[in-house]
Amino acid sequence: MTNSKLFKRYGELCATHPWEVIVAVLTLTTIFLTVDHHQPLISTKSKNCPGCFDEQVNAADVIVMTIIRCLAILYTYYQFRNLQKLGSKFVLGFAGLFTVFSSFVFTSTVMKFLHIELVDLKDALFFFLLLIDLSKAATLAQFALTASNQEEICQQIARGISLLGPSLTLDTIVETLVIGVGTLSGVPRLERVSYFACFSVIVNYVIFMTFYPSFLSLILELTRITNVYEQKHTIISRMLIEEKDKANPAVQRVKLIMSIGLLLVHILSRWSFSAGDITSDFIKKENCSETSSFYSFIMKQFVMSADHIVILILLVTLMIKFIFFESRDFFQEKVATVNAINNQVSSIPEEFTHLKQREKYESCCSSTYNFNEVNDVEEQDSCRNLEVCLQLFRSENEPAALTDKEIMLLVDTKHIPSYNLEKALNDVDRGVLVRRKILAKSIGFSKLQNLPYQNYDYNAVLGNCCENVVGYVPIPLGIAGPLKVDGELFHIPMATTEGCLVASTNRGCRAVDHCGIKSSIVADGMTRGPVVRFPSMTKASEMIRWLQNSNNFETLKTQFDSTSRFAKLSKISTRIAGRYVFIRFVAETGDAMGMNMLSKGTEQALHHLHDYFPDMDILSLSGNYCTDKKSSSVNWIEGRGKSVVCEAIVPAETVQSVLKCNTHALVDLNLSKNMIGSAIAGSIGGFNAHAANIVTAIFIATGQDPAQNISSSNCLTIMEPWGTDGKDLYISCTMPSIEIGTIGGGTVLPAQSACLEILGVKGPNLEQPGENAKKLARIICAAVLVGELSLMAALATGHLVKSHLKYNRSNSEKKKNSCD
Ligand code: NAP
Repeated sequence: MTNSKLFKRYGELCATHPWEVIVAVLTLTTIFLTVDHHQPLISTKSKNCPGCFDEQVNAADVIVMTIIRCLAILYTYYQFRNLQKLGSKFVLGFAGLFTVFSSFVFTSTVMKFLHIELVDLKDALFFFLLLIDLSKAATLAQFALTASNQEEICQQIARGISLLGPSLTLDTIVETLVIGVGTLSGVPRLERVSYFACFSVIVNYVIFMTFYPSFLSLILELTRITNVYEQKHTIISRMLIEEKDKANPAVQRVKLIMSIGLLLVHILSRWSFSAGDITSDFIKKENCSETSSFYSFIMKQFVMSADHIVILILLVTLMIKFIFFESRDFFQEKVATVNAINNQVSSIPEEFTHLKQREKYESCCSSTYNFNEVNDVEEQDSCRNLEVCLQLFRSENEPAALTDKEIMLLVDTKHIPSYNLEKALNDVDRGVLVRRKILAKSIGFSKLQNLPYQNYDYNAVLGNCCENVVGYVPIPLGIAGPLKVDGELFHIPMATTEGCLVASTNRGCRAVDHCGIKSSIVADGMTRGPVVRFPSMTKASEMIRWLQNSNNFETLKTQFDSTSRFAKLSKISTRIAGRYVFIRFVAETGDAMGMNMLSKGTEQALHHLHDYFPDMDILSLSGNYCTDKKSSSVNWIEGRGKSVVCEAIVPAETVQSVLKCNTHALVDLNLSKNMIGSAIAGSIGGFNAHAANIVTAIFIATGQDPAQNISSSNCLTIMEPWGTDGKDLYISCTMPSIEIGTIGGGTVLPAQSACLEILGVKGPNLEQPGENAKKLARIICAAVLVGELSLMAALATGHLVKSHLKYNRSNSEKKKNSCD
C-alpha cells in the first residue's frame, strides 16, 4: 500500500515536472555516455584474434542467432499488433516513441560500456526487442489518455505509475538477477548475451520510470488531447486497466523471495572472482590487433549472409501484412473487443446501453461520431470478395464479422434485401445505418447530413410503424393550455411547423379559462366496408335481407367478436349498387383506433357469410364505404371512430379582453364563413375555421395515423349570442368522426407516448377499456373549439395577417433587415 503511494507520488512528480525530469534524464545519459572507461567489459573486435568471439561463431551460432532475431521481430510485431487493437493511434505512437528512445539509450549504453562494434550491436538490439514489454508503456499511455484535462493527466499518470511501478520494479530486479546468472556462466557468448539482456531490462525500466511518464505528460499537454475516449469508453478502459494490472500478491511474494535468493548467488559468485577475472577472456581480446579498415567496416554492413536474408524476408513479409492486410482484421477485432466490453457493462445506464451496437461501432471509429466520419472510415475499410462475404454471412450467420462495406456489397448483389437489413444483421441500429449509407452512396452524403438517425429506439419502429428506415424527422412540439375540459385541466401537446398555431390555440384556452368546456361522446364505432358481388341484383338483395334479420346479425357478430377481446360488432349497414353490395361493419374498439381490429373481424365475418352465400364474390375487404382516409359523406353523416360534441359559454368580458372582439362580430362571421361559405364551396364536414390544424398537430404529437386527419377533422362549429342581453357567446363543435387510439400504431413510440402521458391517456385503460381513447377524443374536440374561437376572433378583428407575419416571418424579416 505504502509502496504504491510512493510510486504514485513519484509518478506525480514525473508528470507535473516533465521538463525537469526529461532534462535530468538526458543530462545524466549524456554524462554516462561521455565518461571514459579504460576497461571495456566486452570486446568483440579483431577478426584475427585467436579465441575471440568472431572466431567462435560457428554454424550453430548462426542458426541460433537467426532464430533469436526472428523471434525478436515476431514478438515486436505481435506487441504492436496488440497495441493497435486498443484502437488509439496515440497509444501506438507513445509505444513507438518509447521503443525508439529506449533503443537509442540502450544502444549507446551498450556501445559505451561494452565497447563493441556496430556489427555486433545488431544482436544486442534483437535481445533488447525480445525483452522490451510494450504493454506497460501502452497501459500508462491509456491511463493518461483517459484524462479529460491537464490536471487529470498528471493524476492518471501517477495512478498508472502507482499501479505499474511496484510490480515493474520487482520484475526488473528479478529479471536482472536471473539473467545476471548467465554472466557468470564462463561461456563467453552466453555471457555477452546475458550482459545485453541485463542492459535491456535496466534501460527499459529506467526509461519507463523517468523519461516516459514525463514525456507522456508533456506531449498530452502540448497537443491538448482531452478525452480521446468517450466517457463510456473511459469507464470501461479504466475498469479493464485496473483489473488487468493489479499485481497478484502471491506472485509478488514469490518474486521477492526469488530476488533475495538470486542476490545471494550473485554476491557469493562475484566474491570468488576478481573483477578482472570476470572479464579476462574479453580483456585478452582487447589486445588483439585492429585490422579492419573503414572500408572493410562498411563492406561488413552490406555483405548479406543467409541469416540476414531470412530476417529481411521476414521483416518485409510482416510489414506488407501489417500495412496492407491488417486494417480489416483490426477493424473486426475492434468490433469483437468492444462487443466483449459491451457485455461487461451491463451496469451502465440505459442512455449508454441504448444503441449499444452502434456505439460499439462508433467507438471504433471516432469519439465524436458523425455520419461523414463514418463515411471516411468506411472508405478506408477494405472489402473482401463476394464469395468470402457470403460464406461468412451464411455459414456463421454472423454479420458482425462483416464490415458495412461488405454488407453493402451483399445488398448490391441482392443477397440481402435492403428492406430486410435490420433482420439480416440482427441489429436494428446497424440496419438503419447501412441503409442510410446505401442511400447516401446514390444521392450523396451531404444530402443526409441534416437528417438525424441516432438516439432513436428503432426497435419500437420495426414491424410496427415504418419500413426502410434511414432516420427520423424531428418536428417542434408546443404546448397549449391548460385547457379546462369537464373540470379537468389539460396541457395540449401540438407538433407543428405552422407558426401562430400553438399561440392561437393557447389564446383560445385562456378564453375558456373560467367557463371551461363541456364534452360528450355521442357515438363510438370504427368501420370497415368491404365490397362483394353477386351473380345478379336478386341474389344481392337476398343477402341484404338476410343481414337485416337480427338472428343472422348475431351469428356474424359472434364470428366478428371472436377475433378480438375488445372489438365488439355493434352494427352492420349495407348499400346496394346493381349486383354489388357494400357492407359497413361498425365496432367499438376499446382504446385502439381499431383499423386492424376491424379488418380482422370483418374478414372472419365475411368468410362466414360466404358459407351462406357461396356465389358471393368478395372483391375487397375495403370497398371505400368505410371510409378510411378519404373525404366522404358517410363518415360525416354516420360517424366513424368517436363522435364528440363540445360546448362553452364565453362571457362577454372575456370575449372582449382575451379575444379583443365581441360576440356579435363572431356570430356574424361564423354564419357567413363557416356556414354559408362552406355550403357554397360544397364542403363535406368542413363547416369550421381550421379544425384540421389542431387535429393534425395533436395527431402527430400523440402518434395517431396522420392520414386520418381527413375524416377526423370533420367539424361543425356553431356560434350563438347567449345570455339575457345576448352579449355572451355560445360556441359548440360537433365532430362526428375522430379516428384515434391510445394503443397501437405510432402511439407506442417513446416521444409520442410521452405526449399521451402528458394528457394522462397513455396506453390502454385497464379498468375501463376504451376510456383513454374517448378522453383523448374529447380533448381533441375541446382543443378544436378553442382554436376556432381564437382564429375566428383574429379574422373578425383583422388581426390574422398581422399575427401570421409576426409569428411566421419574424426570422426572415430580421434577416432581411440585417441584409438591408
Ligand atoms: P392494433 O395495434 O393493430 O391492435 C390493437 C391491439 O391492442 C390488439 O391486439 C388488442 O387486443 C390490443 N389491446 C390491448 N388492450 C386494448 C385496449 N384496451 N383496447 C383496444 N385494444 C387493446 O391497433 P389498431 O387500432 O387495430 O390498428 C392501428 C394500426 O392500423 C395503425 O398502425 C394504423 O396505422 C394501421 N392502419 C391499418 C389500416 C388497415 O387497413 N388495416 C388502415 C389504417 C391504419 P386484441 O388482439 O384482443 O384485439
